[in-house]
Amino acid sequence: MLFHSPPFIALLLCFLASSLCLFGYWSGIEWLFRPQADGPATNIFTALCMLLISVAALLRPALSSVKWALLLLVLIFLLLRMSGVWLLQQISTWFVMPAVITDSPLFSHAMGLNTSIMLLLLVIGMGCQLWGYLRLAQAFSFVALFFPLQALIGYVYQIPDFYAEMSLLTVTMGLLLILANFLHTMQVDPLHALMSGHLGGRLARYQMLFGFLVPFALGLLLVSSFIESGLANRFGLYVVALIWFIFILVTASAVVQDKVERSRRKMEEHLREMATIDPLTKLYNRRKLIENARHELELSKRTDTTMWGLLLDVDNFKLINDTAGHAMGDKVLVELARVISSAVRKIDHVGRIGGEEFAIVLPGTDRDGALTVAENLREKVAAMWVPGWTDSYSPITVSIGGASSEGRVTLETIYTAADEQLYAAKHNGRNRVELEPDPQPDWELARQN
Ligand code: GH3
Ligand code: MG
Ligand code: MG
Repeated sequence: MLFHSPPFIALLLCFLASSLCLFGYWSGIEWLFRPQADGPATNIFTALCMLLISVAALLRPALSSVKWALLLLVLIFLLLRMSGVWLLQQISTWFVMPAVITDSPLFSHAMGLNTSIMLLLLVIGMGCQLWGYLRLAQAFSFVALFFPLQALIGYVYQIPDFYAEMSLLTVTMGLLLILANFLHTMQVDPLHALMSGHLGGRLARYQMLFGFLVPFALGLLLVSSFIESGLANRFGLYVVALIWFIFILVTASAVVQDKVERSRRKMEEHLREMATIDPLTKLYNRRKLIENARHELELSKRTDTTMWGLLLDVDNFKLINDTAGHAMGDKVLVELARVISSAVRKIDHVGRIGGEEFAIVLPGTDRDGALTVAENLREKVAAMWVPGWTDSYSPITVSIGGASSEGRVTLETIYTAADEQLYAAKHNGRNRVELEPDPQPDWELARQN
């Protein structure tokens, strides 16, 4: 699991790249910290900061104090660098790999300002993430993204002012850390809206992609002519501004769209529930139960199986209402619904079809099966405990009537037959199950005649 998690891979790559970079300084292999022969090098402290940040992020959450310590160390580095104290270089000449440092052409003396700002944003972002302020963490990463993106455009357009001292290696490691942070904060907006699987999110992703690629590619076609005219910087700035303008626009609209979509889905869900679920017992309402029963009946005809329908009516329910109040009656109904639902199979359908009347559809069931279910239900209800009623008054009992689909074409006829059986159960003394007998086979009828 851990090895498949995308933030883990991004962090691991960053860890490896920074380690290799440090190894480059230690062993004097220049290309490991200066990816382009005459381009900028990744500063030794940049590599060290990247290493510490990636280790901090890779550590298990349980080691949070170590994580904090590492981040604090990086923060101190960065603040020293940014406050213009060149102490770092002194420290490096004293302690860190003197062999390389005295060969000063190999050593990039100072961490670039852009790099240090990016790292600062990343460290603060990671701190926010550890603290649980995911939205803030994401915001810091979005701002941090400005620097490697700007440098990348600088490299492609060949505008040195855009990448300044930021080496391609630093750009890559920065992007990896930003990516890891994004992946960690995916569940909050605006990234959540941008990555949503719904139409708004998908559209936003395309808009982002083309919002970057189109100005970027057009700029690439034009930039050479601007270099000749000496206006390349201004032109590059225009492209960058345009890309970020599109990013912000798309992100904002994706967030709004996602909100609208979410509330619409919620409303739809609510309407669907209102149309199919009984609000008191959370069972299917009459309409939905009939719909399901019709479907099961058609299925049973097709598969040549039998389905049973049970009708269940609480005995002397008026007494509960009259004695302990309507609220107690409601409480009994809720408890009853729970007992019925838990006593049937997952494929059975239970619904509240009237005040204190319930119906149960048992697909693929014969009379013995239906009788077992009905008797089990009757006993479970009789043993049901409803505080405030069963402890002071009598147990709650139900009468159940049942009929099968065998030889019947419509649901109405099954319902009528089950209702007759329910009436018989009431008539015969309540707290009873009455199921219609199995239809007699043809040879039996012939014998009787
Ligand atoms: P029987 O054994 O013959 O079924 O007697 P009974 O008292 O249960 O009679 P009946 O089935 O006619 O009574 C239904 C009662 O259920 C009448 C009505 O006031 C009550 N009722 C219907 N819906 C609700 C409800 O949502 N909540 C409560 N508390 N009572 C309801
Ligand atoms: Mg009734
Ligand atoms: Mg009743």
